[in-house]
Amino acid sequence: MTFFGETRGRVRRSVAGMSFLPRIRLLATGGTIAGAQTGGERGYKAAAFSVEALVAAVPQLASLAQIEVEQVAAIGSQDMNEAVWLKLAARTEAALAEPEIAGVVITHGTDTMEETAFFLNLVVLSEKPVVLVGAMRPATAISADGPMNLYNAVAVAAQPAARKRGVLVVANDEIHFAREIAKTNTTQVGTFASGHRGLAGLVNAGRLHLYAPPVRRHTAQSDFALAGLVALPRVDIVYSHAGMGRELIDAAVHAGARGLVIAGVGDGNLGAVALAAATDAAKAGVAIVRSSRTGGGVVERNIEIDDDALDFIAADELNPQKARVLLMLGLTRTSDPRALQEMFFAY
Ligand code: GLU
Repeated sequence: MTFFGETRGRVRRSVAGMSFLPRIRLLATGGTIAGAQTGGERGYKAAAFSVEALVAAVPQLASLAQIEVEQVAAIGSQDMNEAVWLKLAARTEAALAEPEIAGVVITHGTDTMEETAFFLNLVVLSEKPVVLVGAMRPATAISADGPMNLYNAVAVAAQPAARKRGVLVVANDEIHFAREIAKTNTTQVGTFASGHRGLAGLVNAGRLHLYAPPVRRHTAQSDFALAGLVALPRVDIVYSHAGMGRELIDAAVHAGARGLVIAGVGDGNLGAVALAAATDAAKAGVAIVRSSRTGGGVVERNIEIDDDALDFIAADELNPQKARVLLMLGLTRTSDPRALQEMFFAY
């Protein structure tokens, strides 16, 4: 682990070697925020820079916090997986268990940021701030967005007011709740949106404007814990479309999926052929969650599909990738569709 701030003599307020600045643990996983262009303005490689290099590029951080860094992974977030999630969650909990640590910042690629944030939101049992941060432009790009995003993320994590709000994501001067955030654009710096319940707040050059805390369960009130969890059950996502057949649903079941999330058309719908396959899967004990490919809105029970009769689960407001995260964790507790449904209403 590398220590920044006090050890580099940059902490401004100190008495007899004691710093008054909060201590923040920065866990790095890679992503574009650590990316370097590979030629011209277009191509780049994620996770090219170490976390030490990222922190050194933003010397203003030393006025916000004493930063300790730890490289947990060095990947583009398209390569994020359950094993890294479990390791990252364990390192996050270990950091937060240290009384002198005020909060954790996690650098992460933006592609799967929302899934990692929601996973941590469900398993990290702490009230201290956990803030994910990324960037849309690589560190070497014209007008890279990473340095200000990192500065703002540390400012949020260092504030006691950011406690008890669940896992947060900071980007583009916005603070998002893990449950609400979704990546909505392939390249723009304003890619993140929280379309249902809105933003957690704004952060303007380190100054916070926090809005109301979330009402759904998270972090310290979550029933999911890391203890004893060494792997997660297989859950696949199947994308619905006009003319959909049954083959991909059958293939997922044959591959050993214990749960399936349907990225349904409209209100979580499936055509008759695919619906028959999902019905067979549910009868075989596979948990079927109906989400939506639309990107917004609530999937409610029993609208055009009789969930009560088929033992299906409605995803409520969760998009398919977040419904998958909750279903994986839910299946570590139960395979009863009614109990799983209650989880989708609670988290
Ligand atoms: N594929 C990269 C990642 O998710 C690009 C997205 C980014 O970090 O902005 O790590």
